[in-house]
Amino acid sequence: MTAKSLWAATAQPAPALQSLQGERQCDVVIIGAGYTGLSAAHHIAASGREPLILEANTLAWGASGRNGGVVSPKFRVGFAALMQRFDRDTALHMYRTGYAAVDSLVEMIESLGIAGAQLHMGGHIAAAHNEHALGGLQSTANWIKRETGGESSRMISAEQVREMTGSTIFHGGLLTPKAGGIHPLNYARGMASSLNERGVKMFINSPAEQVRQEGGRVIVQTPQGRVSARQVVYATNGYSDQTRATDTLHRRLIPFRSAIIATEPLPAHVLAGIMPGGQVCGDTKRMLRWFRVIGDRLIFGGRGAFGKHDSDSAFRTLHRSMGEVFPALRDFPIAFRWSGLVAMTLDYLPHAGQLDERSFYAIGYNGGGVAMSTYMGKQLAAMTAGEPVQLGLLAGETFKPIPLHAFRAPGVRLAAGWQQLLDAIGR
Ligand SMILES: Cc1cc2nc3c(=O)[nH]c(=O)nc-3n(C[C@H](O)[C@H](O)[C@H](O)COP(=O)(O)OP(=O)(O)OC[C@H]3O[C@@H](n4cnc5c(N)ncnc54)[C@H](O)[C@@H]3O)c2cc1C
Repeated sequence: MTAKSLWAATAQPAPALQSLQGERQCDVVIIGAGYTGLSAAHHIAASGREPLILEANTLAWGASGRNGGVVSPKFRVGFAALMQRFDRDTALHMYRTGYAAVDSLVEMIESLGIAGAQLHMGGHIAAAHNEHALGGLQSTANWIKRETGGESSRMISAEQVREMTGSTIFHGGLLTPKAGGIHPLNYARGMASSLNERGVKMFINSPAEQVRQEGGRVIVQTPQGRVSARQVVYATNGYSDQTRATDTLHRRLIPFRSAIIATEPLPAHVLAGIMPGGQVCGDTKRMLRWFRVIGDRLIFGGRGAFGKHDSDSAFRTLHRSMGEVFPALRDFPIAFRWSGLVAMTLDYLPHAGQLDERSFYAIGYNGGGVAMSTYMGKQLAAMTAGEPVQLGLLAGETFKPIPLHAFRAPGVRLAAGWQQLLDAIGR
């Protein structure tokens, strides 16, 4: 078994990049080379301005190179709940934003010809782990039908879920056809290669150690270099604790470790019975489990360890979970296992905004950022150009540092324990 990800083992080569040495000037300096930063750079360059990306590690070293690759228009908060808490227009705006995010990812892949991203829009199944959760899916389907007049997601029976997934444990599900999966690392490398070919400057192993403003310019200091720019974009998401320069963003987030395992190649007769419908699937537990087939392997993800590092016990739990969903895979050997940090927010929504006149950010995707971060990159390009954007609930006005953030770890454990308990008692 290797601690390397399946993605790293199967990715196309990354463009050859260097670390920053000496002084550079640009219009917008972008901190972080994940989907948010790469997408922002793409759209800023397309508008005729000069972006420059600084990455502390390697390209897509953060969540963008490690995620499950599930493309979905959903937020962690349901539309019916948003309508109850706010109003119909707000909920509808969020619904449309979710689909706009999927569109922006598809457009990015198609317009740049990123074949390596292996985009497959085969649909997403939300599979109910109990009757209570099935009721929740039904109310989402009802809301979509009533408020949008369409059927962008529709209920499927327990029998249909069994046929599509090969698992007998679910009580029914919600099928969203406009969703699917990608090879996450290839998507990021594809974007970066295109930027590289267009002459956009990107520097790896170049952490932004200090950001300050001087004479109407933003100055970003790295260990061996310095960038002077008109504006700065922070695209550091769940990895905003790499240096003190992004501390103010880190304090707005609760990073949560999420883990993934990938099986050894499955024998043909087993593979034929697992996810034969070609969809991707996530269950309805608060501590979500999700899975999809990649080539001849199953990948299975869910909550990982707390804290800074992986833990064997978290991977063992995931392995056991996989055996519950697919008994044929109980004790089946695992070839790859890895994890990454999901950036949670207190309201379970991502946010984009400004810290001051020259500083912009988009962070907090709550584990659903593959499409949304691509969309946010586009919004950041518009925001830095002074164009109006319609972010609705995703606007950053009320998104502030979390009080007593330094003491969050016990709170996260408590919240996670509470959610596990609710899952266990079937609520
Ligand atoms: C295990 C896992 C599974 C997931 N699965 C899914 C999924 O299936 N579907 C989905 O929609 N979403 C999923 N997500 C979430 C999704 O991956 C993220 O929302 C998305 O990748 C965020 O992209 P980003 O560019 O904002 O951040 P990241 O990709 O995390 O990039 C941030 C980058 O900033 C860099 N950085 C930090 N500080 C500095 C600094 N001071 N100077 C320079 N660079 C810096 C980091 O090195 C990092 O590369 C998953 C996340 C994880 C961890």
